[in-house]
Amino acid sequence: QANATALSFAEHGSPERVLRLQHTDLPATLGDHEVRIHLLAAPINPSDINTIEGKYPIAPELPGVPGHEGVGEVEAVGSKVTRMRPGDRVVPIEHGQGTWRTHGVFNELHWYKIPKDIPLGTAATMVINPPTAVKLLSDFVQLAEGDTLVQSGASSHVGRLVIQLAKSRGINTINLIRDRPERAEQERELRSLGATLVTTAAECRQALQAAGLPKPKLGLDCVSSDSAAACAKVLAPGGTLVVYGAMSQQPLTVPPGLLIFNDIRIRGFWLTGGFAKMKDGWRAKEQLVDHVCALFRTKVIRPVDVECLPLEQWEKALQRVASDDRTGKVLLTS
Ligand code: NDP
Repeated sequence: QANATALSFAEHGSPERVLRLQHTDLPATLGDHEVRIHLLAAPINPSDINTIEGKYPIAPELPGVPGHEGVGEVEAVGSKVTRMRPGDRVVPIEHGQGTWRTHGVFNELHWYKIPKDIPLGTAATMVINPPTAVKLLSDFVQLAEGDTLVQSGASSHVGRLVIQLAKSRGINTINLIRDRPERAEQERELRSLGATLVTTAAECRQALQAAGLPKPKLGLDCVSSDSAAACAKVLAPGGTLVVYGAMSQQPLTVPPGLLIFNDIRIRGFWLTGGFAKMKDGWRAKEQLVDHVCALFRTKVIRPVDVECLPLEQWEKALQRVASDDRTGKVLLTS
């Protein structure tokens, strides 16, 4: 038997209130297709918080362990496992594996082997945000070199990946961030990733005019509220606004005239739901993970900044996620 520690919740609510650290024993033997994995690191993503709060369409059976992504090392494999061996680095390709734990026993089909030399923080955050950024840029509007996109929540991990991917294809990015004292520092950071213009929702229209950029054909919104409206207002006629998050937790308020007179289209995107609908969704996800590994190797995208805290310090980790001076992803490590 191997001892394991996991964060667990028995009811939905705010993570600070409902999460508990629990010690458990893993089964002594593995099923034919099972693998025992030591979880090295797992991020705290907005969807994890939403899952615990009960605001996400997918949740584990309760009591359950949160955590949709992370990276682990295989410790032992069942007799018929062919996809991985002890010592391999693996990432989950099936959502809801419950990665906020030190060790677990899983179905081999739900995990995928990645190269060992990918930095830990990058490996732990590669199955959700990078594939999302890739698909946001490819699935809705065919953008060519010289075209422009506008995005809200540009300081997010997804936003930073969008900037880098767009830059590599010669696409201009107009990036909306929140107005705050550290704004200049954040602007500098996003420019260093390749952002064309960094501005706020309130200043977006004027900044775009002053920069003389073509009107965006694509808008990407993960904030909702004024930020979504600001993106929609600067879109070219016939442009598409893709809504993939709602960090402000406010309703979407897009002036109807934009749809009537400018033929703006509004679409939604959900990575997990999209794969679930596909016949061989897991294979498509594996291919995307391979593609993301190649993007890191060829330095199209840089490793994400991370702050690591041991699983036992989960309360402090949650505070760091909510703090104003966070710039990278907060990882729970073991
Ligand atoms: P991060 O944790 O890296 O960043 C969070 C972002 O949200 C920051 O830009 C932060 O701005 C901003 N933010 C936080 N609170 C508010 C608020 N009250 N009002 C406005 N902005 C706020 O996020 P991720 O990159 O991991 O995720 C970004 C978004 O993408 C989330 O909404 C997530 O759910 C969504 N997502 C959706 C997917 C899908 O399939 N639909 C897949 C992956 C992500 P600041 O820097 O100013 O603090």
